Amino acid sequence: MDYLPVFLRLAGVAAVVVGGGHVAARKADWLLRSGARVTVLAPELGPQLALRVARGELTHLAEAFAPERLAGAAAVIAASDDRAVNAAVSRAARARRIPVNVVDSPELSSFIFPAIIDRSPIVVAVSSAGASPVLARRVRAQIEALLPARLGALARFLGARRAAVNRALAPAARRPFWERLLDGRAGVEVLSGDESAAARSFARELRGSSDGPGEVYLIGAGPGDPDLLTLRALQLLQEADVILYDRLVPDAILERARRDAERIFVGKETGDHAGQSRINQLLVSLARAGRRVARLKGGDSYVFGRGGEEIEVLARAGIPYRVVPGITAALGAAAAADIPLTHRRLAHSVTLVSGHAAADDSLDWRALARPHQTIVFYMAVAQLPRIVARLRSAGAAADLPAAIVEQATLPAQRVLRAPLASLAALAARAQVAAPALLIVGEVTALAASAGRAPLPDRAPLQPADCVTIALA
Ligand code: SAH
Repeated sequence: MDYLPVFLRLAGVAAVVVGGGHVAARKADWLLRSGARVTVLAPELGPQLALRVARGELTHLAEAFAPERLAGAAAVIAASDDRAVNAAVSRAARARRIPVNVVDSPELSSFIFPAIIDRSPIVVAVSSAGASPVLARRVRAQIEALLPARLGALARFLGARRAAVNRALAPAARRPFWERLLDGRAGVEVLSGDESAAARSFARELRGSSDGPGEVYLIGAGPGDPDLLTLRALQLLQEADVILYDRLVPDAILERARRDAERIFVGKETGDHAGQSRINQLLVSLARAGRRVARLKGGDSYVFGRGGEEIEVLARAGIPYRVVPGITAALGAAAAADIPLTHRRLAHSVTLVSGHAAADDSLDWRALARPHQTIVFYMAVAQLPRIVARLRSAGAAADLPAAIVEQATLPAQRVLRAPLASLAALAARAQVAAPALLIVGEVTALAASAGRAPLPDRAPLQPADCVTIALA
C-alpha cells in the first residue's frame, strides 16, 4: 500500500485552506462536513466560498500565504492555482509536521483525498494513490450503487442500541446477536424506512424469540435487461433465501441474486389458474417456515403480474411483504425502440391493455380506436389478427401506424413497424413470438424511432439484431 487509509477527527479543530477558487471550495466543504473550523487564505474568493463566508460558515483572510498562518492547524490544503504558492504551503506544513494536501500534487502532499461515499456514520473512501482519480471515482460509483440509501440510518439504529445490548448480553453473545439481527428482518425494515417495525423486531430478538414468520418481497424484475433492475430490487435479491421466478426473468437477472439462495422456477402457461394457486401456497408455506422469499416477476408485479392476488393471499395469512416496482414492458419497449408513449401533438394518453381481454370481448373498442392516444397490448401475439380486426371495425384507420416490439431490451430484440392493416401479415411472416408488445398509435411512426438504428451505448444489441421491417 502506498498510503494508510485512516479517518481523521477534525471536529472543532482548526484547518486551513489556501486558495479561493472552486477546487478550494470543494475541499473546504469536506472539511466543514467533518466539523473543522476552516480558515481560507486567499486574496480573492470565488462565489461558492464567498457564500460560505457570508453565511458565517468559515473565516476568510484576504491575504497572501504566510507560514505563520498555519499555527495551530490540524490539517492544511493547498488549492491555489499558483504552483509556487502550493509548494511553499507544502514546505511550511511539513516543517511544522502538519498533514498537508496539495491538490493534484501527490508528491507535495502528506495525505490525499479519497473518493468518498458518505452514508454517515458509514463512510467509504476509495483511493488509487493518485494513479487514476477517474478510476477511483468509477469504483466509488459501483460501490455506491450497492449501498442502500438508508445505510447510515441502519448504522445509527444499531449504534443507538449498543448500550442496551451490552447490558443485556455477555460479551461472547453480542456478536452472534448482531449477526442474527442483521440476518433477520430488522435490517431490511430500517433500510426501507420502517424503523418502528425494526424496533419491534429488535426487541423480539433481544428477548430471544425468533423472527416469527419470514417475509415476501414482490419484486418487479423489469423487461429483461439486468441493468434495468432497480437498486432496491438488487438489494433485496441479496437478502432473499429463496427466489421464485417466472418464465420472463432471464438468467442474467437471476445471477444478480445471492449466490446461495434457492431458486424455484414457477413459470406457468397462459391462463394456468391452478399454477397460480400453487404459487400462492408456496409463498405462504416458505414464509411460514421463516424464509425470506423473493417473488421475482417480469416487468412490474402490478401490471398484468397478478401481484394483487398474491398480496391478498399474503395479507390473509398474516405474512409481511414488500413490493418493489419494476419497469413494465411497455416502458422498456418504448425506451428501447424510441417510441415515446405520449407526445404533445400525437398522443395525450396511454392505455395498457391485456391481449387476453381481446379474446373475451370485454374491451371498449370504440374508446381504443379513437385518435390521439397510444394503446399498448400485452400478451398480444396470439390475438393479433383479432385485435386488429376489432380496432378496424371500431373505426381505426387502415394506415394508423403500429409496431410490435419483441423481446424488448433483450439482445434478441426486434421491432416491426407497419400500418395497422398490414401488421398481422407482417408478424406472421416474421414469426413473431412471445414475449412481444403491440403498440398502436401515431407515435410508433415518429421519424426518430422509425429511421434509426438502436443507440450505440446498448452494448449487447447489435444493429443487425434489431430489424425494422415495414411493408411497402
Ligand atoms: N408484469 C409484466 C407483464 C406480464 S404479462 C410487465 O409489467 O411487463 C406478459 C406480457 O408482457 C408478454 O406477453 C408481453 O406482451 C409483455 N412483455 C414482457 N416482457 C417483455 C419484453 N421484454 N418484450 C416485449 N414484451 C414483453
